[in-house]
Amino acid sequence: LRTNLSEAGLSAVRKRQERIEARKAAEYARKDEPAVTSDGRRVQVVANIGGVDDAKESQTKGAEGVGLLRSEFVFLGRADAPSEDEQVAIYADCARALAPGQPLVIRTLDVGGDKPLAYLPIPAEENPFLGVRGIRVGLDQPEVLRTQIRAVLASSDAGAKLHVMFPMIATIDDWRRAKQIFDEERSKVAAWDRVSVGIMMEVPSVAVMARQFAAEDGCDFFSVGTNDLTSYTLAMDRGHPKLASQVDPCNPAVLALIGQAAEALHERGKWLGVCGGVASDPQAVPILIGLGVDELSCSIPAIPAVKAAVRAYDLSTCRALAEKAVTCATPAEVRALVPVDEF
Ligand code: PEP
Ligand code: MG
Repeated sequence: LRTNLSEAGLSAVRKRQERIEARKAAEYARKDEPAVTSDGRRVQVVANIGGVDDAKESQTKGAEGVGLLRSEFVFLGRADAPSEDEQVAIYADCARALAPGQPLVIRTLDVGGDKPLAYLPIPAEENPFLGVRGIRVGLDQPEVLRTQIRAVLASSDAGAKLHVMFPMIATIDDWRRAKQIFDEERSKVAAWDRVSVGIMMEVPSVAVMARQFAAEDGCDFFSVGTNDLTSYTLAMDRGHPKLASQVDPCNPAVLALIGQAAEALHERGKWLGVCGGVASDPQAVPILIGLGVDELSCSIPAIPAVKAAVRAYDLSTCRALAEKAVTCATPAEVRALVPVDEF
């Protein structure tokens, strides 16, 4: 808060506001155009959503689909678990809100840790962030996961191209058990070839073993949850009042994990997206592209600016930035590589 600004200071602030408005208007004017680097590399820019209204709104802000549907909204704020039919209605509404053929990536229920659920009791744990959360809940209570998978499969003819992804995968065994449940449910319906399956990369073990994961049959993509990945890489809670400011996804350790995972997936013709908060940070965009990221799943208001950031670079500059970024010593050094318009 600045008080007693001089006339000159006030006028500088007003000019800055005008410049920001003008930039936003220019970005907004091109929101519906694809995001392509100046030398032709297309990056899919999609939305993170938490409900049907978000799906509709994302279409008005230039989203090319949905890269993360946080399905918790279907389960939270109620006394009992949603039925399969209730879930079908919601997922199909989200799918219908998108343009036909656009991707809709539905993350299976991600509770536990910081997200408790009254009717799905998870015994108190000393370290809930290292306990039964994410896919571990679904593997522990498979009927919940099975019902959700059946509902996704039943929504797969609603227009969008559906993808399922499992949160908090840490081991190959997690993946195989979840995939087996998926395959068992899929074998009962006709939608077997319409839904692809992937995992969230939120635990460093997945990045370190990206080659083994990429070699798994039917593991079609990774979406990097940089919020959790950064916390687990640095062993710092992203909500901790003293530590949160250090939990920066531009830490070179996190970027190196993303880069090596992208390489491993591309060797197999598979794709990697980022759905954590860093995908909405225009400063990080050229580095992520240079690391090989194929899809950026952003908060809805960030979409026009993220598309503009993609268009502002060519691929070789992005690659050079990424190469430097992973050899930097600190997140501050990484951020210094990409000048932001200070206005
Ligand atoms: C993440 O961890 O980056 C992520 C997208 O998942 P969450 O819903 O936990 O933020
Ligand atoms: Mg997460």
